[in-house]
Amino acid sequence: MSSQYTVAKFGGTSVADFDAMHRCAHIIHDDSNVRIVAVSASAGVTNHLVTLTQQKSNEDERLALVDNIITIQNAILAKLTLDADLAQSFELTLNELKSLAALPALSAQQCDEMLSFGERLSSFLFTQVLRNLGVKADRFDVRKVLKTDNRFGKATPDIAATALAAQKHLLPLLDETVIVTQGFIGSDPYNQTTTLGRGGSDYSAALLAEAINAKSVHIWTDVVGIFSTDPRLCAKASPIAKLSFDEAAEMATFGAKVLHPATILPASRSNISVFVGSSRDPQAGGTWIEKDTSSQTGIRAVTQRKNQILLTLKSPEMLLASGFLARIFTILSAYNISVDLVTTSEISVAITLDNAFNASRPELDQQCLEELSEFCHVTVENNLTLVALIGSQIQLRQHEVNLMEVLSDFNIRLICHGASKHNLCFLVEQADSDKVVQSIHAKLLEVA
Ligand code: ASP
Ligand code: MG
Repeated sequence: MSSQYTVAKFGGTSVADFDAMHRCAHIIHDDSNVRIVAVSASAGVTNHLVTLTQQKSNEDERLALVDNIITIQNAILAKLTLDADLAQSFELTLNELKSLAALPALSAQQCDEMLSFGERLSSFLFTQVLRNLGVKADRFDVRKVLKTDNRFGKATPDIAATALAAQKHLLPLLDETVIVTQGFIGSDPYNQTTTLGRGGSDYSAALLAEAINAKSVHIWTDVVGIFSTDPRLCAKASPIAKLSFDEAAEMATFGAKVLHPATILPASRSNISVFVGSSRDPQAGGTWIEKDTSSQTGIRAVTQRKNQILLTLKSPEMLLASGFLARIFTILSAYNISVDLVTTSEISVAITLDNAFNASRPELDQQCLEELSEFCHVTVENNLTLVALIGSQIQLRQHEVNLMEVLSDFNIRLICHGASKHNLCFLVEQADSDKVVQSIHAKLLEVA
C-alpha cells in the first residue's frame, strides 16, 4: 500500500548557498506531504572531494581543498546558528574530513568515505534552515538504511535490505518530523560508507521513496523539467509536461542530463510518480513522469551522448556459423565492457561502447582487442556521438522523409531501431553532433 508521502530531493545548485537553501525550505514548508528530504552536496563540494581522492596533491594542496569546502559551507553557516544537536555533529564531521584529508593515500573504501562528506555536511545546514522556517526537522544518517554492496565508487543498492531498514528506522519518525537525509551515499553489509556514482542523489531519493512506499518523488533542480532537447543547444527547446517511465528512462540513458539514469528503475518498479522542477521557480511547473501517461505518440525529444566508440568485428567465418556473437560478448564481458548498440550483418557486427562509462580504461583494453583479433578483423573508431530520438511508438515511416533529409548532410555511421518502440538511435561524427541535434529538433520537434 502506498502512503501519501513524498520524498523531495534537492540537487547541488539548490543547496549551493543560503538563499538557495532558503527557497528549497519554503517548498518543504508549503507541502506537508514531503516527509523525507534528500540533499546533494553544495555545488562544487563533491568536485573538491573527488580531487582529494585523486592523491596527486601534496599536503598543502589537500589543506587548500579542505579550506575551499569549508569556505562554501561557512558562507551558509554565516547566516545560521546551528542548534546544539546539529552543531556538535557538524564539528565532528568536519574533523573527520580533515583527518582523512591528511592521509597521503586512500583505499577504495576511504575514497567513498571522502566523497560522502559533501552530503553529510549540507544536510546539517539544510536541517537548520528548515527549522528556522518553523518546520520540525531532524537530520538522519542515510547510511543506516540505504544498504548497498561494496562496489566502492558505484555501489549497487540492496533493495530488500534497504526496505527493511527504512521500515524499521525511518518510517516511524515520519509522523513526527521531516527527515533531512543525504543523497548519493549508503553503506555496505559491514556498515562501511559507499557511494552510488556521480549524480546518484536522484537515485537515492527514488530508492528511499520505494523503501517507504511513498507516492511520489520530487526532484528539484535548476531547470523547469525535462526538455525536448538541451535548451543550451536549441533556443526553442520546450519543457515536456508528461513522460512515461519508459520514455524518461530512455532519455536519461541516452544523454539528457537532468536525471540520473537509474532513478526511473525504482519509480517504475514500484509505480512512484516522479516530478522534476526548478527550486528557483517552483510555480513554473515541470515534468511529471508516470506510468504510461502518454497517449501522445511519436518523437518527444532528441538527446546526444558524446565519446562513443564504434567497434566493428568482421569475420567471413561468421557466415552461417553459430556462436560468433556469444564469443564476442563473452570476451567483452570478461573485460567488464558495457555495450550499448548492436547491429549485425551476415559477416560482421558493429557495437558501440560508451567511453565515459568505460572510463576506468580510457582506451579500449589492448588485450581485449587482441583476444577479439584472434578470430575476427577488428576496427575501432573514436570521436563519435550517439544521437537518440526518444518517444513512444516511434515509427520510422512517419518521420523518415524529414529525418533522411536532415541526415543527408551528415555522415551516419550506424542506425539502430526496432529493439525498443521508444528510441531510434544513430552514430554521427562528434564534430557534427550539435548541428545534427539542432537540425532534427528544428525539423521534427518544432513543428506545431
Ligand atoms: N554530490 C554528488 C555529485 O556531485 C551526488 C549528486 O549530487 O547527485 O555527484
Ligand atoms: Mg544531479
